[in-house]
Amino acid sequence: METRKKISVIVPCFNEEEGLPTFNKELIRVLPETYFHEIIYVNDGSSDNTFRVILALAKENPTIKYISFSRNFGHQNALKAGYDFASGDCAISLDADLQHPPDVIPALISKWEEGFEIVNTIRNDHASITYTKKISSGIFYKIMRKLSDVNIENGMADFRLIDKKVLKQLKLFNENFLFFRGLIPWMGFSQTNVEFTAAERFAGTTKYTLKKMLKFATTGVTAFSVKPLRLSIYFGSVIAVLSFIYGLYAAYIHIFTDLAITGWTSVILSVLFVGGINLLMLGIIGEYLGKLFIENKRRPNYLISETNLGE
Ligand code: UDP
Ligand code: MG
Repeated sequence: METRKKISVIVPCFNEEEGLPTFNKELIRVLPETYFHEIIYVNDGSSDNTFRVILALAKENPTIKYISFSRNFGHQNALKAGYDFASGDCAISLDADLQHPPDVIPALISKWEEGFEIVNTIRNDHASITYTKKISSGIFYKIMRKLSDVNIENGMADFRLIDKKVLKQLKLFNENFLFFRGLIPWMGFSQTNVEFTAAERFAGTTKYTLKKMLKFATTGVTAFSVKPLRLSIYFGSVIAVLSFIYGLYAAYIHIFTDLAITGWTSVILSVLFVGGINLLMLGIIGEYLGKLFIENKRRPNYLISETNLGE
């Protein structure tokens, strides 16, 4: 009886036509032959020839599977689709641009063989990562740790291995606003980290525009914490105390001195200040309300237009 274990590799692809053939070669080269494997390419609504490239690869190699979305549903949903369909004893996810070096995969597998159920990777910041990306990701992880109760380490990447036990649980998650970097550490099980040095993007340009990045960061915070909602209580209390002190001062001026002239500056300042805080808090409440609204529809995370899986 064959006892070889099977590894599922999940690769989200959005407009990666240029680099994909090289990536595929590199990936197959590093996958240990002592395991079976399946490679699941998730085409996240690419507008270039990515899907045709994937189809050509799949034609040559029966271990290559594909899931093609009906439109762009985003990186995290592409990962979810991969996790939903993965049938291996473990699943490894990595980016298609060779920034997550495939040569780290054997290290992930050996940690898994040691008994770890989740092997995360931490990106060692490297010259190839832009300065703004380093700073913004540093700030982001700091805020995430402060606000949520999940310990997300700096540079945590969506390059990880999870055991089929974890995969089985993960398939039960039905949330629309996914943030795997928070969700996976939150899940528990026995976890460990492996460090890697991010390489330069092999081909094409980043698919994470500033807009996508901001959306992703907001989801990261709001999917894991209700602390921002509590801000209004803190702001409210501070303003109440300050107003009370100012009220005492105003009363003193009025009663004991003859300096009580109409103070335009203080009035306009306090109106603007309180107005600003009000809007900020409404915005935060709106953000959560909007997410509740969408979550409540229970829409699927993605729609598949073509696949060679589960047929
Ligand atoms: N990606 C995706 N859908 C998107 C954006 C990105 O599937 O809407 C994929 C992309 O093809 C790549 C991975 O997610 O495999 C990470 O994206 P990218 O390398 O552009 O991000 P960066 O490394 O610049 O943060
Ligand atoms: Mg990249």
